[in-house]
Order: sequence, then C-alpha cells, then structure tokens
Amino acid sequence: MGLVPPCFITEIVEKDLREGKYQKLLTRFPPEPNGYLHIGHARSIVLNFGLALDYGGECNLRYDDTNPETEKEEYARAIEEDVRWLGFTPDRVLYASDYFETMYQCALELIREGKAYVDDLSEEEMSELRAQGKPSPYRNRRVEENLELFERMRRGEFPTGSRVLRAKIDPAHPNFKLRDPVLYRIVHAPHYHAGNRWTIYPLYDYAHPLEDFIEGVSHSLCTLEFENNRAIYDWVIENLKGKCGLPLSPRPHQYEFARLDLTHTVLSKRKLIKLVEGGFVSGWDDPRLPTLRALRRRGVRPEAIREFVRRTGISRNEARIEMELFEEVVRDDLNPIAPRVLGVLEPLRVVLTNYQGEEWIDAPYWPRDIGREGSRPLPFSQEIYIERSDFSLDPPKGWKRLAPGQRVRLRHAYVMELEDVVEEKGEVKLLKARILPGTLGANPEDGIKPKGVIHWVSARHALPVEFRLYDRLFLTEDPEEGGDFLKNLNPRALEVKQGFIEPSVAQDPPDTRYQLERLGYFWQDPVDSRPGRLVMNRIVPLKEGYRPQ
Ligand code: ATP
Ligand code: MG
Repeated sequence: MGLVPPCFITEIVEKDLREGKYQKLLTRFPPEPNGYLHIGHARSIVLNFGLALDYGGECNLRYDDTNPETEKEEYARAIEEDVRWLGFTPDRVLYASDYFETMYQCALELIREGKAYVDDLSEEEMSELRAQGKPSPYRNRRVEENLELFERMRRGEFPTGSRVLRAKIDPAHPNFKLRDPVLYRIVHAPHYHAGNRWTIYPLYDYAHPLEDFIEGVSHSLCTLEFENNRAIYDWVIENLKGKCGLPLSPRPHQYEFARLDLTHTVLSKRKLIKLVEGGFVSGWDDPRLPTLRALRRRGVRPEAIREFVRRTGISRNEARIEMELFEEVVRDDLNPIAPRVLGVLEPLRVVLTNYQGEEWIDAPYWPRDIGREGSRPLPFSQEIYIERSDFSLDPPKGWKRLAPGQRVRLRHAYVMELEDVVEEKGEVKLLKARILPGTLGANPEDGIKPKGVIHWVSARHALPVEFRLYDRLFLTEDPEEGGDFLKNLNPRALEVKQGFIEPSVAQDPPDTRYQLERLGYFWQDPVDSRPGRLVMNRIVPLKEGYRPQ
C-alpha cells in the first residue's frame, strides 16, 4: 500500500511518468523556517516524500527562506528533525537563499528584456493603483535606469522599503496577482543562512518557481491559497527558461491541494507563536499543541500521523476534520502495540480486612482479540488503591462499580465487597472491604456475579506517578468563534493527577506505550519523567473517555 492515497495528484504523476514527461519524479517540501511544523504540514510532508517513495522519485527538503526578519537557524534544525522523526529522509537538504545570486541574475535579465521595473511608490500608493487597475508612474522607466537602480538597491544604497522591483505584466489584469507583482523588496537585515550579503530579498511568487526550476522539480505541490499565484509561477518560468543557466525543459508545474485543518486547535504558525510567546503553553513541545514535537512528546507515533494523512486523503475540498477522527487513528495505532497495565489516577485507599500477606498474580498483558502473548507479575496485598470515581455511597441507577451492598471484581484478582466507609469532614477517606475467597481470576461462572470490573493497584508496591491528562486546546470547534481565539482556550486542557501505577513498568523501556485499563493510552513524558519520579502523559483517552463539558 502506498503512502499517498490515490487522488488527483497521483493520477497526474502517473500520467506524466507514463508519457515520459519527466525522467524522474522530483518533489520538494518547502517550509519557511519561521516556526515549528504542525500536523497540517504533515499532509504536505507525507504527500511530497510519499510520492517520491511510491513512484521511485526523490524529494528535497528545501527551506523557503526569503524573509530574513522572521527566520532562524533554530527553526530550520527543528524542521529537519521533525521531518526525519515522521519517517522521511530528504534526498537533499537545500536553502532557497543559496540561489539568491541566480535569482538576482534572472531579475537583471527580466529588466534587460523590459519585463521588470523599479518602482518608487510607497506601499499604500501601490496597492491603491493596483486596486484601480492603473499603472504606476514609474512603469515606463528606461531599461538603463532600471538596471542602475536595481544594482544600487543591491548595493544597499536605499533604505528598507523605499523601492521595489516589479514584473511588467498588466496593471489591469483580471487576475489581481498578475497586476505587476512585486519581485524584490529592500530589507536591511542579516539573513540567518546567507549572512550580511544581501539587502534585497525576492518575494515568494518570484523565488518559488525559480527554486523549483533550479532543482529540477517536476511536481510543485502547494496549498490552495496559491491557486491564483500559479499564473505568476508560470510567467516566471516561461520568461526565464533557457536563460541564466536555467534549462529549457522540462519545467516544473504547480498543483494545489486543500490544507489540512482540524477542529479545536489552530494550525497556523502565527497563532502558535502567540500561544508560545504569550505563555499560554509551556513551549513548542507542550503536548496540548498540534505541533509535531508536541504530538511526539505526548506519545503519538509517527505511524499514526502518516496514517491520519492517508485516511483523510488529498483533495481540493477544504473541510475541517474532526479531532475525534485524529484520536481514533491514534487509538487504532496504539491498540495492537500497547500492553495493558493497571494504574489509578485519583486514588482511594481500601483496606481488605480478611486478607493478609501478599501474592503475585500472573496477569496477561493482552486481551484475547489482540492475539499476543505475554504477562507480568502483578502484586496483590492487604491495602489497595482504587479509583475514587469507582465508588459511590449513593449510586445512581445502573451503577456498575463499587457501592454499599454491591460487589465488584478487581481486575485480574478477587471479587470484593464493602464493609465500611471512613469519612472525614464529609469526604470519603478510606474504605474497608473484604474479598471473596476463591474468586481469584476472572471466572464468570462462579455464581458471585459482581456488577462490574474495576482497576486497582497494591498500595505497598505501586509507583507514584504524576499523570498529565490532556483535553482539547480550544473549547470551540472553530477557535476563531467570536473573533478572538485566545478567549476560546480551554482552561482544563491540562489536568494533573497524583496517582499510582503497578510496579512492573519499572522493568520496561522508558518509551513503552501502555493502555492503562479503563483510562486510556499513556507513556512517560520524555522531558520530565525520571526513574524515581514518574511523569506520564495521557496520549489519548479510550473511546468513551471523552466528556464534553
Ligand atoms: P502557516 O500558516 O502555519 O505559517 P505556511 O503555509 O505559511 O503555514 P510553510 O512553512 O510555508 O507554512 O509550509 C510549508 C509547506 O507546507 C507549504 O507547501 C504549505 O503549503 C504546506 N502546508 C502548510 N500548512 C499546511 C496545512 N495546514 N495543510 C497542508 N499543507 C500545509
Ligand atoms: Mg507562511
């Protein structure tokens, strides 16, 4: 099975390869290093790298680094790390800023051919004239004057923002993007990769087609908001092919697909930066965020993210995907690989009045339907913890857990019944209970008929754990509802519980993912967890676990 689901893009690629339009498929993933990657980017990564793997091609990781003010080496390094974590190996790691000299030579060529001019209008004046479809008064500058001004722009003789280079296409073109688009602007700022060499920087619309063309990209895949920019993409390539060292053919073509969008979260670097820098989360890897490093820290596997991209497909329909579907995919990924163990989030102590000593139960890790073997010794003793919410003094109808006069089975162990409740200031402090001898191990035919099965740990043996439970980052499906996404933040997106887990986990590799029975999937937080001080993240709750507030 391919990484990329069959879609209009796979059809185009197959047709182009069949017809020999390109000798080899070459794609690229072109992030701007101005933030960390999020799950939306995963769609683009899987698409670009996946096509290369599925069709015997290659894929470049290319930093689209043409904005010196917002880009950083730190982001570039993190992006590459995240791409590799997702399971992809770039055939090359490249920088658009390495092509600045070629792009500059191409611009000179356009000027010489009368296809570009230097404009002195202010930004406001320019956008006004563009809106009216009127030409700039500088549009008919002579070639020599344009060449001289552009060279001086490069030498840093003019202040930031004072002039631009524009393509001479059509000031009144029905496609707004073609109304003499800006190709270069002046920015006096050092570039994290190119250093201090440049004071003019190319704009995306001019730079991107050249980057693709220089590298020999065959299919240039981008999101739908660039649909109208395709005309500039084609204009740049058609006007520069065969010049300045660029080939005549084959040329790259741009195709657009719909962005990935998810409910209850934001997938925009700009908004994510606000959350991080505003201190609303603890950093770029805060497990509440949809960044790849946050999902990774939370415990989501790259397999799940790749499968999520596959299941949601590639199309031109912009639909917001429900977070429930993502969670479903994560559960499906973990279900067959996560051993089942016992832990308690909110402990309530239970003393068993008719049990002394301890015993070690051979408890299977897997339910029968998973079809895997393996078990661990699970200690049982006189004092256990159960989940506070598994006991009720005054249970509602249909209560399947512990209550006065109502027996429950302790998972893998005995049937238990209540004897006494110790309360302090109206709060249940401790339960006294007894086990029914001879009920060890699940045996539905033993005539005892417990109402339900609950989880527990032996108090003396259990390891203390700080459990971190995550919920939706935003209360509303659309974080922008009401106009300010910060107002819709879910104050309970992180809840911390001091609980316990069975001692067997101490023997496991620290990156083991578990299903804590009845509670969800968990693993040790890779940043904060230590052998003597366990911290566990809930990766995702079990299906019935999610309660809207
Ligand atoms: P953001 O709005 O988060 O800053 P961007 O599009 O500006 O996103 P880039 O670094 O330019 O981010 O993105 C690199 C590539 O990933 C681009 O080809 C872009 O189209 C694609 N991409 C970005 N966001 C998504 C998304 N939500 N779904 C699919 N592809 C995306
Ligand atoms: Mg961007």
